Amino acid sequence: MHCWWFNSFYRLAGWLSAFSGGVVRDQKIYCYTCGTDEMHRRLTADEKAWLKNRTGRKTVEEFFMCKAPGCRNLRTGFQKRPFDPVIRMPLDD
Ligand SMILES: [Zn+2]
Repeated sequence: MHCWWFNSFYRLAGWLSAFSGGVVRDQKIYCYTCGTDEMHRRLTADEKAWLKNRTGRKTVEEFFMCKAPGCRNLRTGFQKRPFDPVIRMPLDD
């Protein structure tokens, strides 16, 4: 039998797995530069290294990149616009 706390727990478990690199790798979340909800993916090891160097951050685990063609805008799971001006992942692949 499902009730509200079961659903809340289920949603929280899915949310936690998304942020711990679990089963959910791509997420449909709002992209500030597209102005719409777009699929975002986690960064590769090379991209993480690039972003750490670019921003001086110690950790960039919370970042996602927009998969819309030609966008590659970066955001975190929490903030739709963590950088001002925005940072886009350079095309090198
Ligand atoms: Zn986008």
